[in-house]
Amino acid sequence: MSKSDDRLNQTGPNTQLVRAGYDPFNYHGFINPPTIHASTVLFPDAQTMEQHGQKYTYATRGTPTTDALCNAINELEGAAGTVLVPSGLAAVTIGLLAYLSPGDHALIVDSVYGNVRHFCDTMLARFGIEIEYYDPTVGAEIKALFRANTKLVHTEAPGSNTFEMQDILAIAEVAHRHDAVITMDNTWATPLYFKPLDFGVDISIQASTKYPAGHADILFGTISANAKHWRKLRQANGALGFCGTPDDAYQVLRGLRTMGVRLERHQANALAVATWLEGHDEVARVLYPALQSFPGHDIWRRDFKGAGGVFSFVLATDRKEDFRLRAHRFLDGLSLFGLGYSWGGFQSLALAVDLSDRRLVQLPEEGPLIRLQIGLEDVRDLIADLERGFAAIATA
Ligand SMILES: *Cc1c(COP(=O)(O)O)cnc(C)c1O
Repeated sequence: MSKSDDRLNQTGPNTQLVRAGYDPFNYHGFINPPTIHASTVLFPDAQTMEQHGQKYTYATRGTPTTDALCNAINELEGAAGTVLVPSGLAAVTIGLLAYLSPGDHALIVDSVYGNVRHFCDTMLARFGIEIEYYDPTVGAEIKALFRANTKLVHTEAPGSNTFEMQDILAIAEVAHRHDAVITMDNTWATPLYFKPLDFGVDISIQASTKYPAGHADILFGTISANAKHWRKLRQANGALGFCGTPDDAYQVLRGLRTMGVRLERHQANALAVATWLEGHDEVARVLYPALQSFPGHDIWRRDFKGAGGVFSFVLATDRKEDFRLRAHRFLDGLSLFGLGYSWGGFQSLALAVDLSDRRLVQLPEEGPLIRLQIGLEDVRDLIADLERGFAAIATA
């Protein structure tokens, strides 16, 4: 960090987003870093080569482009180090692989991102790691689940699709008492609205595919560690050889510069739409931590500085109808909301949530669960589109 960067640590979050990670005067004054395409790095002589006596040695170990992004993420997360990987899913799987060994027991939140559950139940199970899913609302009571071989607790708040909040402070305190690593998938809030490492988390994971990239055109992930766990993370990723590409690293850094204003708009739009849905006859419940009615709202208010623009709601039914059919009618009635996976881009998206893989979390009984990613469109138009969805149920 240069001298001017030290002063930037006291600035506001948007100033930090604009300035983090790169000093233009380290590269001829150009305000954005160069996109270095590289494998080989040349050494001036054999001795320098033998001693790895220069900053860059081979592109799997970093380039000025990836360093600019790593530095920015380190500043935002308050991390000792960050590795860049080719997807959000890889960020979670490498984050878990780095700290688990055969014979270990891992506690995984039941509202975990679905593909991570698949990784745990297949690959981690094959490697002899015992997986146990826990209730996202467990809080300090998680202590009852610890065994002598519990080495890791994975958290995600709010949970994927059902948005349960977790008491991260309480869980981290228990994990540390048992000398277990605590990892967190913080994709929904981004480090702008929640800083996991400040709440006792050791490893903060982000699917940069979502808000940092922000335009539905990039797959990327970051894993950030505190000082105690950085060495092991760097070694694990060095052993595996995963690298984020320079073009994607450049685009993610570019996305970070505007992430603050985009998130503000996602959040304002989402709160307006969620509030409107709460008052709608065809809606049984809205699952969004920013709503006062939501069970995890108090934890969200206590710990988070803002909300992502993704939430779910339960369609009202007479409980006898075919939930699936009703969800499909609603979704097929939409035209501004695209039907597609992922979120964090500019366009609004909708899907019917499949909770069939949950072990502990209760499925809503009132009707099907619909997840919305609220994009950057005008709220009036989004509400009009949702009305079309409700009308499509009524006319079917
Ligand atoms: C999308 C998502 C991921 C995976 O990100 P990809 O880049 O799509 O692999 C991981 N965790 C959460 C919470 C996500 O929403």
